[in-house]
Amino acid sequence: IYNFCAGPAMLPTAVMQKAQQELLDWNGQGVSVMEISHRSKEFIALTEQAESDLRELMQIPANYHVLFMHGGGRGQFSAVVNNFLGEQGRALYLVSGQWSSAALAEAQKLAGEAQIDSLNIVEKHNGLNTVILPDLHKIDADYRYVHYCPNETVDGIEIFDELDSPWPIIADLSSTIMSREIDVSRYGLIYAGAQKNIGPSGLSIVIVRGDMLKLPSLSQSSIMDYRLQVEHGSMFNTPPTFAWYLAAEVFAWLKSIGGIASIAKVNQQKAQMLYQCIDGNAFYRNGVIAANRSQMNVTFQLVNEALDGEFLKQAQIAGLVALKGHRIVGGMRASLYNAMPLEGVAALVKFMNEFAAKHS
Ligand code: PLP
Repeated sequence: IYNFCAGPAMLPTAVMQKAQQELLDWNGQGVSVMEISHRSKEFIALTEQAESDLRELMQIPANYHVLFMHGGGRGQFSAVVNNFLGEQGRALYLVSGQWSSAALAEAQKLAGEAQIDSLNIVEKHNGLNTVILPDLHKIDADYRYVHYCPNETVDGIEIFDELDSPWPIIADLSSTIMSREIDVSRYGLIYAGAQKNIGPSGLSIVIVRGDMLKLPSLSQSSIMDYRLQVEHGSMFNTPPTFAWYLAAEVFAWLKSIGGIASIAKVNQQKAQMLYQCIDGNAFYRNGVIAANRSQMNVTFQLVNEALDGEFLKQAQIAGLVALKGHRIVGGMRASLYNAMPLEGVAALVKFMNEFAAKHS
């Protein structure tokens, strides 16, 4: 089976096999990693290794803290506001699709007297969704931060150009993290829900520059307080230990196959193969300009939508699962996260070509 789910997504087979072997006896403890204290020296060693591997993989500078938190991606939508906006602050949200809209809505809900501005950065050019990055230096405002989402999972839109900003950049990398190289030092804070390129859902990774913690915060729940989590090594309360363990295994796996530079090449190749199939076939279409086509989430429609059900049914029979597009946008979506092998995409392309030939 090749699982194209957008999240929770497939995990590397090697990691899942190792986890299966260790399920009842982790690290010679005679019990599962889920059943030991998060404060035991064995678990602390695991967390230290996880952080060190993540720092190495993403080349995270020393002045950044790495947090392993609860609450997934959406948990961070509110944490960012509560930690950085203060009572009188102002922030800018760039909107490029469903997830950046959801982050904006959460900020508006929590802002109180503070001010939230937003800018829609997607336009239709020749019928294709196109990202137009604004020149932020031309905006005369004093923002605490600018928030954006470089990859919109639902819409299949990705922003590859680096954002240039006079204010700290906060990025929702839930569906981008570790899929390609990024320069962490450009960001005030990066967050990501784990369930795409990292591990089980619920966990979120936060990478925050030290000076950001000096911004005024709103009163908030302690477990979402970055300062408190830094002080407590992400263990103010009981952390999601199994998710943390699996994340550690995924980091080790990624290192073993050559790190982010190496997986980025494969990711590029996978996306290219699939877009070539869509473009080369009048049977399918994609509505995003080439420069902003997502490498992680390839959205496409059948020109004859009446065949959607049959496409999904036949794909399932061929072992290609979870290709249905998000309910908001419909159509199809193939998510090609790090764990999806090249062979999975080759199998999908073969199926799509055969299906098109049969029904044209
Ligand atoms: N941000 C992005 C870009 C996502 O793709 C998702 C979900 O898949 C989220 C945020 C929300 O994550 P969660 O469901 O963990 O809250």
